[in-house]
Parts: sequence; C-alpha cells; structure tokens
Amino acid sequence: MRSHREERVMTDSVSRPHIEPGKLFIGGEWAEAFAKGRRDITDPSTGQVITTVAEADAADVDAAVAAGRKAFGTWSQTSGRERARILHRVADVIRRREDELVAVESVDVGKPVSLCRAVDVATAAEIYEYYSGLAQTIQGATRHIPIPSHAYTRREPLGVVGAITPFNFPLILSSSKIAPALAAGNVMVHKPAEDTPLSALLMAEILAEAGVPDGVLNVVTGDGAVAGEALLRHPGIDKIAFTGSTKIGRYAAATAGEGLKPVTMELGGNAAQIVFEDADLDKAIGSAIKAFVFNTGQFCMGGPRLLVHRPLYDTVLEILAGAVAGVPVGDPFDPATVVGPMAAERHLAKVEEYVRIAKEQGGRIVTGGERLDLGGGYYYQPTVIAGLSDDSPVVQEEIFGPVLTVQPFDTEEEAVAMANGTPYGLAAGLQTTDLARAHRVAARLEAGIVWVNDWAMLDPAIPFGGVKQSGYGREYGPEVLESYTKVKSVVIAL
Ligand code: NAD
Repeated sequence: MRSHREERVMTDSVSRPHIEPGKLFIGGEWAEAFAKGRRDITDPSTGQVITTVAEADAADVDAAVAAGRKAFGTWSQTSGRERARILHRVADVIRRREDELVAVESVDVGKPVSLCRAVDVATAAEIYEYYSGLAQTIQGATRHIPIPSHAYTRREPLGVVGAITPFNFPLILSSSKIAPALAAGNVMVHKPAEDTPLSALLMAEILAEAGVPDGVLNVVTGDGAVAGEALLRHPGIDKIAFTGSTKIGRYAAATAGEGLKPVTMELGGNAAQIVFEDADLDKAIGSAIKAFVFNTGQFCMGGPRLLVHRPLYDTVLEILAGAVAGVPVGDPFDPATVVGPMAAERHLAKVEEYVRIAKEQGGRIVTGGERLDLGGGYYYQPTVIAGLSDDSPVVQEEIFGPVLTVQPFDTEEEAVAMANGTPYGLAAGLQTTDLARAHRVAARLEAGIVWVNDWAMLDPAIPFGGVKQSGYGREYGPEVLESYTKVKSVVIAL
C-alpha cells in the first residue's frame, strides 16, 4: 500500500487542476445563479477545498427549463443525421480534452487517474459515439389494418428532460442520459450530485464546443432537496431520468408521479458473486476483488457479497487475505494507485459504521477493517469480512465502500436463494466452468445484468438497470431510446 504523502508528486500525464468557481450553464452561457448560496467542493484525497459551485434554487431551475423549452422547437426538428454529426463531434472533443476531464474527475471524486482515463473518460466518448449512430435509426413503423387507410407510428421526443445523477460516476452517468436524450431530439436540464459536479460543468463547455446549440443542455448545480426537488415538480419538465439511491429514488418517483411525469429509476444495488466449486479459482479471485474495490466500492453494480461453494471456502478466504492486502491504495494522481479515497467524509463514516456492526455481530475481519491515515483524505482499507449471517445488515444493505462479505453455501439452490435474498436486483455474477450451470443460474438470478466468469463487463450497447428495489427502466443499448421517445399513431383515411 502506498502510504506516503510525498508520493503525491508522482503523476500520470495529468496534475491536479486549478478550477475556477463554477457558474450555472443556461441557454448556452455561463450564468450567475439567482440563488446566493455557494458550496465548497473538496478534493477527497486531502479534504482540502478546491473550488466552489453555485447552489441553484427554484428560480435558477425555472430559467434553465425556459432555456430548454426555447431550444426544443429547433432541436427536435433537426434531422437525426445532423444530431448524429454533432454527437460524434462531442466524442471527438472528449478525446481531445481527455487530460482535462481525467484531472477534473479525479480531483473531484478521488478516482485514480488510471481508472478515470481507461474507464470514465473512454466510456463517455464511446457513449456519445454509440448514440451518434443510433440517432439516425429512430423511426416509427407502418401498420396494415383492415380499414382503408394509411396507418403509421411516429417516435417523437418527449421535450425537456430533467436528469438527476449521483456522485460516484459523474461523467459516465451524465453521458448515459445526455447522449440518448439528445439523440432522440430532447433537450435537458442536468443536476449533478452536490459533491461531484465538476465534470458536468466541463461537459457543458465540451458540448457547446462540439456544436450542440444553445439551450439544448443546461446544467444547474445544487442541493438535491432544492434544485433536484424543483426539477421533479417543474411543470415544464417532461421526463425525469434519475440515478441515485433507492431511498431518494422512491421519493423522486412519487414526487414526479404527482405531475404524471414519466420516470426512469436507476437505483441502489447489493450484488452477489457466486463461486462454484468448478470455477477457475484464479479468475474467480481476480474478479471477486475487482468487483468490490473498483471505484473504491462506490459502484452500484459492484459485488460486495461473495458466496463460495463450501469446499473452496477456506482456500478462497486465505487467498483473498493476501491478495486484498496487496491492492495499492493511495493518491489518485499516482499512476500506480488502484484504490483511491472515498468521495466524501460521510461515505467513509458509513463504511466505518457497517464494519463496527460486523465486528459487534461476530464477523471476522479477514483483512482491512480500518481507516487509512495517508495524511488527510477519506481512505479506507479494502476489507474482507467472514462469518456473518445472511440477515446481518452488513450483508443485506448497500454499504457502498470497499467491503466484501464472504459466506459459504452447499448447493446451487442455496446459492441462488442467497444471491436473490436482498431487496436489490441490479447486478449478479457467477464463476463456473460448467456451461449448462452458467445458463441455468443466470436465468434464475434476479438482476438486470448477470456476468459469468468476470465482473463489470459493460458497454453502451448492453442495457443495464434494476429489478425489485434497484429501480426500473434501462440505460444503454437501443432500449433506453424508448424511454426518451413517445409513440404517436397517425391513421389517414384513404
Ligand atoms: P443520492 O440518492 O443521495 O443522490 C442522487 C441524486 O439525487 C443527487 O444528484 C442528489 O442531489 C439528488 N437528490 C437528493 N435529494 C433529492 C430530492 N429531494 N429531490 C431530487 N433530487 C434529490 O445518491 P448518491 O449518494 O449520490 O449515489 C449513490 C447511490 O446511487 C447508491 O445507492 C448507488 O447504488 C446509486 N447508483 C445507482 C446507479 C444505477 O445505475 N442503478 C448508478 C450509480 C449509483
């Protein structure tokens, strides 16, 4: 583990950026917020303030929605081909400004620069590229009916979409809403998470540079209960695309529901990874570690519950103890870092509380279990816990940190029941060399996506989303376009 502050000077090709105080982006311009409030944004690796952003209120949201409505008329009439050209240019500009995006996302969220470059920024560009392709394919169908008529459907954009996103993958999760929404001819008001809004502001500039017309993307930073709430209730918002916790999602769905706004809800997760006795053990261990340390465990589709076939249980724990202790934790700007700090103090406090409960309930800390003092910042040791019962809150609830619980099982039936035994259903995974078992178990897992023999295999072409308390609606793939369009039928008498 890297434990030395001096090592902070080591950098990828990027260094910590200087970031000007953030304004709102409304109607193609940087705008001072009507609201007087400002929020300090901190670097999670030091706890130091790096800049401030505006805390928008209802009047600011109102201005952003008005700018969106004004832009919608023209943007919705732009041809799919023209929208495709513009979205493709967004991907190009993202790649050209990669270093800037890597630096901003890393310093804001505490993500290792290597991860940011390979995953966050690369994926954002791919998302725009993918929906640039699909922008030209959105179409209705002709229907033959037994009355003399010409009948057809049209797929039309919804209007102004309100997008509300969480703190953990700001760039990817905003791109996965903006790109398909704009591809389908909608405009957007985006409210990023209060703690990590910086890449959303940079993306506003990038979209403008790529030629996205004024008012098509508007960004309002601010508190969920104020700016987010204003979006949920605004009569000029035609759809809410929400990603965040199950608790807030439930509230957001109910509130938007009062205005009968369509919503998509990408919510919390608590996935199980099942290791069967016929698994390739090296692969299984690598995948198990990736699934819980990726993004410092702040990953809705992470795999914090490892279920191991009993004959392998002791061996897996022994290997994990050594391998997890060797995962490089440290400064996000050190290219060798694999696990950075947690994004905010309160997230770290939540992890500490769950580990305290685990100890109180007789859980055995196999490795980790402590906060890491790297001279400031919100670091926690990657932690493996054995010996907890299935009904422990540490197993049942979403911890959202670098913590893995490990439990044994005896039969396939029991493994499936344990995997499905929480209120969540976002992702699941299994490790096996038995092809029939892979298909059989994948079909029985209650999850929006199932991975076999690896973890986190994601691509803009593959839809993901939740079942049960993990939400509804799908992002990615052509599927998401359905939630950004409405079908109109036209029947012409002949
Ligand atoms: P959160 O629910 O606290 O916040 C999400 C967003 O909702 C933020 O922008 C926040 O400001 C806003 N918000 C808060 N109160 C609001 C209100 N009253 N009205 C409107 N908006 C409000 O979530 P978080 O802590 O930022 O993110 C972590 C959670 O997100 C985890 O549960 C994680 O599993 C989930 N998540 C899900 C996915 C997915 O695709 N399913 C992806 C990433 C994260």
